[in-house]
Amino acid sequence: TNEDDKKNVVVIGGGPGGYVAAIRAAQLGAQVTLVDKGSLGGTCLNVGCIPTKVLLHTAEIYQEVLHGKDIGIQIEGNVKVDWASLQQRKENIISHLVGGVTGLLAANGVEVVIGTASFIDRHQIKVIKEDGSSVPINGDDFIIASGSEPFIPPIPGVELEGVLDSTAALNLDELPEDIIIVGGGVIGTEFATLFNSFGVKVTVVEMLPYILPPIDREVAAAVQENMIGTGIDIFTSAKVTTIEKDGQKLKVSISLDREDKVVKADKVLMSVGRRGVTRGLNLEAVNIRLDRGTIYVDNSMRTNIEGIYAIGDVTGKNMLAHVASDQGIVAAENIMGIDSAMKYNAIPACVYTKPEIASVGMTEEEAKKKGINYEVGIFPLVNNGKTLIMKEVENTMIKIITDKKYDEIIGVHIYGPRATDLIAEGTLALRLEATVDELITTVHAHPTVGEAMKEAALAVKNIAIHAV
Ligand code: FAD
Repeated sequence: TNEDDKKNVVVIGGGPGGYVAAIRAAQLGAQVTLVDKGSLGGTCLNVGCIPTKVLLHTAEIYQEVLHGKDIGIQIEGNVKVDWASLQQRKENIISHLVGGVTGLLAANGVEVVIGTASFIDRHQIKVIKEDGSSVPINGDDFIIASGSEPFIPPIPGVELEGVLDSTAALNLDELPEDIIIVGGGVIGTEFATLFNSFGVKVTVVEMLPYILPPIDREVAAAVQENMIGTGIDIFTSAKVTTIEKDGQKLKVSISLDREDKVVKADKVLMSVGRRGVTRGLNLEAVNIRLDRGTIYVDNSMRTNIEGIYAIGDVTGKNMLAHVASDQGIVAAENIMGIDSAMKYNAIPACVYTKPEIASVGMTEEEAKKKGINYEVGIFPLVNNGKTLIMKEVENTMIKIITDKKYDEIIGVHIYGPRATDLIAEGTLALRLEATVDELITTVHAHPTVGEAMKEAALAVKNIAIHAV
């Protein structure tokens, strides 16, 4: 084909949204240019999903080894975390995966330009490269995939040394003695698990009356109880008012319902949320409509300006890597003439605490709020052999929510070992609009944690075999 006949698609941002969009557009015959100002793979690969899980993996094994005698392992001598080589392992995995993305883009003929992109007009951006030079790039269509960055609330003292965002927390030179984590959401609880497992004293401060606001309340309450059980201090309905220097430590003042409290620690991690990266793109030049700091898009990932699409965290939908990627595919397909739309009812969401949490579809609170005549089936994992073998019985469960009308599964919530892998079955169930009977009549292998999914479905009908 003549290159000139090809549609020119320009993607801004090479995270899981942008690089997937670029590959899909190239597969469909576009001439694609991808611009990133940082490292390919974006937040997810460099300072998000991947590095957190590398550290959490070692944290989990460290705990297993420390409690080796529970599973018949006797350890002689000291067991120590080698933080420096763990950091090196993390860097190796990141560069391996970044290399993978680089290779995939090259194999698909995507041109990668490293530099900061900003709009000139509807058909042109300019890219400022590291050496200060500037190049214009023309495009028929654009996909904005500029991602998100940590939101740091204006609390007095946040600028002090030792106050970290998630990126800095991943790259510490050494483990602190103690840390205060401000924000008990997904990122906050994962870091709490991580540091606590490595023996760091952790305090979590959450403004809401409970941690993990998007999670089913019954599940989140079980998580909170377990986290406290592992020695993490959690303050809910609590607001950090100031952070001050106090000798070698940081002193955090917390305002609670009835009293005020002061907690001291080496480090403070701010994890109260993230916001879309819209600054620096000169979106004004093309009149892109913003919606509370994020880029407004429809379900086809179109912005208000024809030919300009936006995907991923910058759209403020569900700030998850797999959502960004799926949105990227939708945008690329629409650009290349294939009608495609996002559906948000069956998006799995995972939290890599120990045990893990995973959910898809409605929480019980949402079902109630929507006025759905729903039923709930809960199977406590204390009754599951594999969970017992893996020592994660305490408070863990699978909870299934169905719409009574057709017995359709509308929500699956898992708190237990391997939850983040098991949720795939729940996601497929929702995607296929499966009924509870279809899950019940599906044969599940034994002994697995997954067979508890069937038991939870049976529990909806009050006929679980291994529970009363
Ligand atoms: P990003 O990954 O943020 O990529 C955006 C890219 O755009 C960046 O590379 C940036 O350099 C580039 N860019 C921005 N502006 C410009 C510009 N003007 N010019 C050129 N380039 C530009 N999600 C999960 O699904 N699972 C997890 O386990 C998970 N864990 C996480 C843990 C942490 C600590 C964090 C912070 C996030 C985590 N996330 C997780 C969220 C996930 O990282 C994001 O949802 C995902 O990275 C969003 O992808 P994106 O493509 O929209 O943007």
